Amino acid sequence: MTPDPGTDCPVMPAATSTAPHGLLAWEHARFDRITADLALPEATVCALHCATRSVTVELPLPHDDGSTTVLLGYRVQHSDALGPAKGGTRYRQGVNLDDVTALARLMTWKTALHQLPFGGAKGGIDCDPAALSARERHELTRRYLLAILPLIGSQVDVPAPDIGTDAQTMAWMVRTAAEAGVADPAIVTGKPVLLGGSRFRAAATGVGAAHVAQRAWEHLGHRLKDTRVTVEGFGAVGSHAALELADRGARVVGLSDISGTITDPAGLDPRAVQDWVTSGHDLASYPDADRLEGSVLTLPCDIAVPAALEGTITDEVAEGLHAQLVVEAANGPTVPTAEARLHDRGVTVVPDLVANGGGVISSYFEWVQNHQRLAWTEADERRRVLDRLDHTWERVAAAPFPTWRDTALSMAIRRVARAMELSGELTARQAPVG
Ligand code: NAD
Repeated sequence: MTPDPGTDCPVMPAATSTAPHGLLAWEHARFDRITADLALPEATVCALHCATRSVTVELPLPHDDGSTTVLLGYRVQHSDALGPAKGGTRYRQGVNLDDVTALARLMTWKTALHQLPFGGAKGGIDCDPAALSARERHELTRRYLLAILPLIGSQVDVPAPDIGTDAQTMAWMVRTAAEAGVADPAIVTGKPVLLGGSRFRAAATGVGAAHVAQRAWEHLGHRLKDTRVTVEGFGAVGSHAALELADRGARVVGLSDISGTITDPAGLDPRAVQDWVTSGHDLASYPDADRLEGSVLTLPCDIAVPAALEGTITDEVAEGLHAQLVVEAANGPTVPTAEARLHDRGVTVVPDLVANGGGVISSYFEWVQNHQRLAWTEADERRRVLDRLDHTWERVAAAPFPTWRDTALSMAIRRVARAMELSGELTARQAPVG
């Protein structure tokens, strides 16, 4: 019988001492279901389950007012079976080892699914970046980078931006590593273009999600023109997804961010909303739209794009959703029980693994360009990212699995398992100790 690796893996205990909850519990449940379906040997399941390395670092941060607080940072390298571990760095209040572990696992499956030569990792600091000054964020980033520097590197583990971090954060990381003796722009991706960043990276995740949304919508027999779309989250991912969907002819009828939700059934202009937000206003105060209480995803629409946080599609939201298609631009937005409800109601979900893969594909191309000392044009990189997404999409959409998430996860898990098998990792782990 296949063991339940989330709770009693005989090879190694779970990364956390208490039962996992939230994103990690959902990830375990999905992993358990797929590995049981694939009937993988027990040792393979356990090896796939275990993280290569999980670290917690304590970061004393001197504040501008003279006080000091100690913040907790994490880096989890879940797998290096297919190449250097790869994954973003999240600065967000409440980030913990469970979340980071779940997101690292998701990165392992995502890089494998898109056939990139990377494993999976994730990092984070439990902090509220909006409450820190630029000097404090810079200092915190330097301390975090120095704490994890012995564990990362362009051939080992390559961080990138995520919620609460950006190209500026990556620039500080590259500089700090160089000052500590590791002068290598490929140590992180998502850098400013001037410092070796790719020209398409900032837009890649959102544009990629819009592209996959169009492919999936057409697969379901529709045309994108005038299709009603809502986007939850108007940050790095959501803003580019909304802009691209509008450019492709969709009607963006609802947008939201932490400040609230705005709607216009006739269609919002995401570029005008972006100008409003970048000029220092709250999205919710945008003048040419109605304000709405509650989730933007429950507005009457055809495609709903969660692009904010994990777990925003709860059972209640799933019940109130009008869309026929959900495209997960965020990581882990759909709670598994809510996904079951969506499935029962005939709503199709394009999973995060597929939908937001444009970000890590673009990061891969940045890493390639850094190693080759090349700088491609934005158009060239955009074409390569969308080609790779198309390649993944066609494999997922063609497979005879009940849902696209199961298909994608199953393809990814089999690829990582095969890599471990070929490299002798499974045999070595089974060898008697001592
Ligand atoms: P971000 O910090 O740039 O944006 C997050 C957005 O969500 C902000 O607009 C914020 O106001 C909004 N938000 C927060 N709470 C909300 C709420 N309750 N309701 C509505 N909106 C809310 O982060 P991002 O980089 O755009 O990441 C968004 C998601 O996409 C995350 O799940 C992240 O892991 C995932 N992702 C990001 C990338 C990337 O390249 N940045 C790549 C893959 C996946």
